[in-house]
Amino acid sequence: MKVLNCPEEMRAWSDAQRGRHKTIGFVPTMGALHAGHLSLAEAAVRENDTAVASIFVNPTQFAPHEDFNRYPRPFEADMAKLEGVGVEAVYAPSPAGMYPEEYSTYVIVEQVSEGLCGGSRPHFFRGVATVVTKLFNAVKPHRAYFGQKDAQQCAVIKRMARDLDMGIEIVEMPIVREPDGLAMSSRNVYLTEEDRKRALCLSRSLFEAEARLRDGEHDADSIVRGVRDGMAGVEIDYVALVDAETMRPVREITGPILLAVAAQLPTARLIDNIKFDPKGTNA
Ligand code: AMP
Repeated sequence: MKVLNCPEEMRAWSDAQRGRHKTIGFVPTMGALHAGHLSLAEAAVRENDTAVASIFVNPTQFAPHEDFNRYPRPFEADMAKLEGVGVEAVYAPSPAGMYPEEYSTYVIVEQVSEGLCGGSRPHFFRGVATVVTKLFNAVKPHRAYFGQKDAQQCAVIKRMARDLDMGIEIVEMPIVREPDGLAMSSRNVYLTEEDRKRALCLSRSLFEAEARLRDGEHDADSIVRGVRDGMAGVEIDYVALVDAETMRPVREITGPILLAVAAQLPTARLIDNIKFDPKGTNA
């Protein structure tokens, strides 16, 4: 497996692949890889001639009080996992290489990034859209794979790729969960045993809401109230029922929706969601 550490090296590798008419699938990550990340990597390997993953803990998407410094960085173990699923190249740039002195260009995706996580982490999507643009420019993929676990992030990236004519297909992959329902996350390692148990109320409440949606409940307020009640044991950041594409609040459920939650537990901030389409199968 090739490891590329700067944009020039990465672009040269990708140009060589494109020169051989190979399609490139790309999986951006911050490392500390689990089965959720690997499901994206497997799809990238399966659906393209070659696959690249990036490992970069992006400083511009963390606020000063957040966990940038303590974010887990098990680089060697991550490399072995990516190699195991057939990824051919890893892009692992340095923070100074990505953001040299006097760095001053940022990508802001309006509207779709404003509520939910954008409300509680105002710096976040500016950092994400900027770094993903930079990664896309270095990797030059045909397709890029993102997880529904970060559903608003997917919506932001899809909008950005469309608005800026990036010509990259954004593929959204389902949430991979632990056997008891907890959505896999690199941050789950922060959880104490007690918080790990408490964390289950996120997925449990979402699954209960999903059952009510399937039974024909159309009233968004009633669904949101039910989820809030189910999460009474944790500090709720938000419970939002929004249009799955625009992220605008919905009152009556007539089309595809995203029901998303965030909670601040003593040891970690957690997010989770479900999607539902009353006219079809779950997205
Ligand atoms: P991260 O390393 O947390 O930035 O995540 C990198 C990518 O993996 C993002 O597109 C996430 O949405 C995706 N991802 C993280 N956790 C999961 C999960 N449990 N299931 C599916 N995709 C995930």
